[in-house]
Amino acid sequence: MSGVFDTKKHKKRILTGDTPTGRLHLGHYIGTLENRVKLQHEYETFIILADTHAFAYPKYIDDPVYIAKATIDITIANLAVGLNPESTTFFVESGIPEIYELATFFSMLVSHNRALRNPTIKDEIKMKSLGDSYSLGFIFFPLLQVADIIGVKADLVPVGIDQKPHVEQALEVVSRFNSMYGEVFPVPKALIGRVGKLVGTDGNPKMGKSLNNCVFLNDSEEDLKSKIMNMFTDPARIHASDPGRVEGNPVFIYHDAFNPNKDEILDLKDRYVKGQVGDVEVKTKLFNALNTFLGPIRDRYKYYDERREDVKDILIQGTARTREVVRETLEETKDKMHLLNSL
Ligand code: ATP
Ligand code: MG
Repeated sequence: MSGVFDTKKHKKRILTGDTPTGRLHLGHYIGTLENRVKLQHEYETFIILADTHAFAYPKYIDDPVYIAKATIDITIANLAVGLNPESTTFFVESGIPEIYELATFFSMLVSHNRALRNPTIKDEIKMKSLGDSYSLGFIFFPLLQVADIIGVKADLVPVGIDQKPHVEQALEVVSRFNSMYGEVFPVPKALIGRVGKLVGTDGNPKMGKSLNNCVFLNDSEEDLKSKIMNMFTDPARIHASDPGRVEGNPVFIYHDAFNPNKDEILDLKDRYVKGQVGDVEVKTKLFNALNTFLGPIRDRYKYYDERREDVKDILIQGTARTREVVRETLEETKDKMHLLNSL
């Protein structure tokens, strides 16, 4: 085994994915799904359904049936936004025990303090009120993520901004491993979406599955309308004739992100700051833009939702295929570390 990573052997690879803890929303779309779709033919793309990670949260640990259902729902949402199941490999983390083996080896290369210093880990402890009773597995899961990335020898990791520290951790492990044991892995790079962190409909800095402030990709037209018409805007603006603030205003953040009609946005912003337009018009135009954007996604979602057994097959086949790839990485890793087979 050469152990040298040969970039000519295959197309460059993408690894990214989701934790099956709920449905996918506009934040996921703009943070990562959009790039997945855009780059799926340029890169060999692997999408992970990180079911083990879901067990790191007290909210889901006692509801495995919910996690299993979300695994299928989230795969459907990925297909609905336009990922091609023929060319994209979808896999379930728990189906690849080699990932856990790799994570164990990699954990030796990361200091305990470094693992705790991860800013996303700190944020999640705060945001999800985990207090000081989070599990050992919770602190370990960034290492699993490192193994997910390195296991398929990913070059690029399209993610929202909150995932950047995990990709940096993977980069550190790769550098350390390569310099200590010999070049095996490509150095992975994070690719952050057009909006790295989309705000919630309530103005919370993050649209989050657990925060009740999401527009889901498969929301019905009625749900979409009610969520948009009830959106948080400029709290200081009482009447349509009051000049309003555009910066940091969630309604305009969404317009900028999802309304392709830039002239319409410019006109709305211009009239908003002058106090010449009411919230209803601004929100109705946002609703129309989003409804047009989500229409085809909703239809494809329905198509796959009616074929859940086929979706399960996509996951089973993709997991088997990915397992072959990760198994090879594990062999190379153990070889370099002079473990049993290379004593
Ligand atoms: P959880 O609360 O269970 O962690 P989550 O909403 O953060 O759920 P993940 O499955 O952890 O979802 O994230 C999937 C991908 O979506 C990641 O790349 C993450 O960075 C991105 N993402 C999640 N929320 C947003 C958001 N509001 N804006 C941009 N990207 C996001
Ligand atoms: Mg998350």
